[in-house]
Amino acid sequence: MEKIAITPSGVSLRDVNEKNMVIVGADGEKLEGDEKPSSEFLMHLKIYEQRKDVNAVVHTHSAVATGFAFAGEKIKRLEGFGPIENPFIPMVEYYAPGTAELAQSVSNALKNEDIVLLKKHGVVACGDNLDTASLLAGFVEETAKIQFVSRLLSHEQTQAHLKHSI
Ligand SMILES: [Zn+2]
Repeated sequence: MEKIAITPSGVSLRDVNEKNMVIVGADGEKLEGDEKPSSEFLMHLKIYEQRKDVNAVVHTHSAVATGFAFAGEKIKRLEGFGPIENPFIPMVEYYAPGTAELAQSVSNALKNEDIVLLKKHGVVACGDNLDTASLLAGFVEETAKIQFVSRLLSHEQTQAHLKHSI
């Protein structure tokens, strides 16, 4: 991949548009744009370097999946694209945002996976196009919501059952 379009740093996602996107080269040098590239550009570059089949990377801090990531709780795969080989969505250890260590560990985790949870940070999904990558990122969030509600309700059932049996 020779040119990578990446969201600008310090601009609310609500205000991101074609004009303020930043274009960087494969080594991270800025080619076009007035803004600074996202502070996670290293992570994006490493993923593209590692996965030649990937044309889009989506990184989110979506609330429920990120809650699991902060709690260090894995998210169970409920279904997926293709056969489920790993029953849980992988989670990488915490490294400070924007660091080469984080970029390396996330790109390693995505060698054989299209989604990964970043401990105490968020979600990264990748795909052959932007639609697939965003769909996957949304899918992780939905899966996390289902598991959260399901755990909460089964906990309530257990509590109610305990009260009855006392
Ligand atoms: Zn982040």
